[in-house]
Amino acid sequence: MSTNIGEDNMNREDFNILNSNIIYFDNAATTLKPKVLSESLSDYYNNYSSNIHRGDYDISLVAEKKYEESRLKVAKFINANYNEIVFTSGTTDSLNKIILGYFEDYLKENDEVLTTQAEHASLLLPLFELKDKKNIKVNYIPLDENYSLTLDNVKNSITENTKLIAISYVTNIIGDIRNVKEIIDYAHEKGILVLLDAAQAAPHKKVDVKDLDVDFLAFSMHKMLGPTGVGILYGKEELLEKTKPIIVGGGMNASFENDGSKVYSDLPERLEAGTPNIAGVIATGSIIDYIENIGIDNIEKYESNLKKYAIEKLSQNSNITIYNKNNNSGLIAFNYKGIFSQDIAIYLNKYNICVRAGNHCSKILKNELGVRNTVRISLYFYNTKEEIDRLVEVLNNPNIFNEII
Ligand code: PMP
Repeated sequence: MSTNIGEDNMNREDFNILNSNIIYFDNAATTLKPKVLSESLSDYYNNYSSNIHRGDYDISLVAEKKYEESRLKVAKFINANYNEIVFTSGTTDSLNKIILGYFEDYLKENDEVLTTQAEHASLLLPLFELKDKKNIKVNYIPLDENYSLTLDNVKNSITENTKLIAISYVTNIIGDIRNVKEIIDYAHEKGILVLLDAAQAAPHKKVDVKDLDVDFLAFSMHKMLGPTGVGILYGKEELLEKTKPIIVGGGMNASFENDGSKVYSDLPERLEAGTPNIAGVIATGSIIDYIENIGIDNIEKYESNLKKYAIEKLSQNSNITIYNKNNNSGLIAFNYKGIFSQDIAIYLNKYNICVRAGNHCSKILKNELGVRNTVRISLYFYNTKEEIDRLVEVLNNPNIFNEII
């Protein structure tokens, strides 16, 4: 079987890799990159490559101006203030910087953090580090029969010791879009802070930090067309002011003396020690422009329709069990009866279809789901119905078992 994909979608021609006839369904791991990304990166490296916040010469000033323009664009994109955006290397880095930089001091012995078993390692492992260091409790809010998080379950899990709710906005396997606004409202009524992992949300739907009133939020640019090695840490200014830098060095201090006394810089530089990913941050600005040009609401709508189409088609194969039919995100987790998930991924690869198999870094979701591994399809706006048709055709192949052996 050969792959022949239609062109009836958004901006497909901007993605060079799609010319190689692959069907890319692993967007939750990282997305493909539009040409504008490499153009921006090569512009920096070829025309004004220099450090920022240190040089008094023209090309350094250009780099610095563009770097800070990207901060403004990101701030506007999520409706934050300029000082509330810290550039990191990714969601993992952002979450570690918040959990260890703010919550290590904030949480006291016997305080409780609420989270769920569907969270990513990059949220749970820093919490586990704190649990050991500070003797706090990490408790799990139960999920409902669709593996989703309900406000009632949040309410029932809160105790007088709960000080933090740390959850993802959209989970990375089930893809349930949590009603975070009502959870945050309720948490704040009880004096509880909320940290959101928005790695699977920000690329696909409008995130408005002021409207949500969220305290801290993190996401990665590489999951939304941008470069690897650039992450965003958002925090309310008064909370970021109290966040201690867990990495210190150049670029984040105003002065220091031989007796060890030191004065750190103001936000946001205080939390950006060392030479940052200048090229990547500048390219981030171009990517935000690109996404805004398409419209994040258009992206959300397109993906939601495509997901419905995919569910409808995949459901017709009685060998396929889908774990998350009932949500609107572009993630589909499934298994094929009698075939190990990774064997499905290897089989699909023979047909140039890229999917992810395994536990997807959410290693304790198995306790809720009852299965350890799934095949995950994750969509973005350049995917098409024709690609879904092709996937379904390949999965419906009557010889599938023979081809796998
Ligand atoms: N949280 C979630 C929900 C994710 O899906 C991921 C990436 N798989 C991360 C955090 C970590 O992101 P990164 O690897 O970019 O730090």
